[in-house]
Amino acid sequence: MNASDAPYDLAIVGGGLVGASLALSLAPLGLRIALLEAVAPGTGDQHPSFDERTTALANGTVRAFRTLGVWDAMTREAAPIRRIHVSDQGRFGSARVDADEQGLEALGYVVPNRAIGAALWQGLGRCATVDVIAPARVTGSALEGDVRTVQYELDGESRTLAARLVVAADGVHSLVREQSGIGADRIEYEQTAITAVVVTQRFHDHVAYERFTESGPIAVLPLTDGRCGLVWTARPAEVERLLALDDAEFIAEFQRAFGLRLGRFLRVGQRASYDLVLSRAERHVGPRLAVVGNAAQGLHPIAGQGFNLGLRDAMSLAEVIADRRLGAATDPGTPELLQDYAEWREADRRRIVAFTDGLVRLFSTPLGALRTLRSLGLLAFDVLPPAKSALARLSVGAAERVPRLARGVPLAGLR
Ligand SMILES: Cc1cc2nc3c(=O)[nH]c(=O)nc-3n(C[C@H](O)[C@H](O)[C@H](O)COP(=O)(O)OP(=O)(O)OC[C@H]3O[C@@H](n4cnc5c(N)ncnc54)[C@H](O)[C@@H]3O)c2cc1C
Repeated sequence: MNASDAPYDLAIVGGGLVGASLALSLAPLGLRIALLEAVAPGTGDQHPSFDERTTALANGTVRAFRTLGVWDAMTREAAPIRRIHVSDQGRFGSARVDADEQGLEALGYVVPNRAIGAALWQGLGRCATVDVIAPARVTGSALEGDVRTVQYELDGESRTLAARLVVAADGVHSLVREQSGIGADRIEYEQTAITAVVVTQRFHDHVAYERFTESGPIAVLPLTDGRCGLVWTARPAEVERLLALDDAEFIAEFQRAFGLRLGRFLRVGQRASYDLVLSRAERHVGPRLAVVGNAAQGLHPIAGQGFNLGLRDAMSLAEVIADRRLGAATDPGTPELLQDYAEWREADRRRIVAFTDGLVRLFSTPLGALRTLRSLGLLAFDVLPPAKSALARLSVGAAERVPRLARGVPLAGLR
């Protein structure tokens, strides 16, 4: 960094699902923004965020993507979820939530991460105020007076930039968060998720299935081309064995665990695996630092909440900055602004972490009595409209204070 280099208003470290969405949210505000990403997108299943997984997007997330002008680029690959079907292996109980009953067009949409990444990065290409620096691996960050510096490697050279606010969007093992002295607690679930795309005998009819088994939950999500994305959670030792099976053996085991709701499973694509943890940063903010997405909290994918919650971090931070931006001189890294952001995020995070972690624990315990309770719970859930509405609202992404972007209101222009 030369002494003459003016600091950026904002530097975002990590251009994955949440970091790229944050850059797009901030772009219309006229701030000078740097976005640093270690892995150039389009690297297929090697990308840490935009790989071959599929993500269930809440309706609030879809509204935000529409407002940011990136939804159209992913609609071709966005499958609506018209119903969620929850069942417990070996029990009669099942719960269904219908979009129709809730007065919704869809409970959410399933989109391949690769398609979300392509749309977000295409959008970034149109933003004159965002300097995309990639592939650039960030190696350090430090507070220096009224700016924070970021050290990174680009084209084999070490470089440094400075910004009034640095945002850690670098995932669950966030280097920037750690280097800024913000720790994270970590609970290993001792479960690993296997993901793959499957071809089924019957059409999914836009139903998302969630099934609880002895080894862990299974999700089967509808895709636009009639195939389904599966997330099969099992204990790590079991996962090694499942990954080593040939396709026919894998399909047979999966069929036993999932049942025949979709007829027979005919083919399975490439499998990938993810170890599952709950991680929570001690704080969302530090001096000239904000933490968003998985860097702030990494969740079990059981309820499809991780990205939807992380995006609400990004949208809330962007909104707090927009609302204080009364002139070009606005500093986005003041303690007051960061405190507003931290306070806003607290309740939403507590609620979603408790809901997700509670589900994992409830459905991971082998206790007989609890199993019965669970089944009763599922049955009761099916006939109790308030409980169903609560799940539907969660699918919509309703939080106490909903960010404007999630309501379809742009941040720039009229307040
Ligand atoms: C199997 C599975 C299924 C899931 N399904 C859903 C779902 O249906 N719905 C949902 O809402 N969520 C889901 N999630 C959660 C979701 O994937 C995460 O919440 C989301 O990826 C978080 O995005 P992020 O941008 O915060 O972090 P990441 O996706 O981890 O991205 C971090 C980015 O930072 C970059 N980076 C890291 N370190 C550096 C560095 N030093 N320098 C520069 N760049 C760096 C990485 O290259 C990466 O691009 C699922 C997760 C899993 C594992």
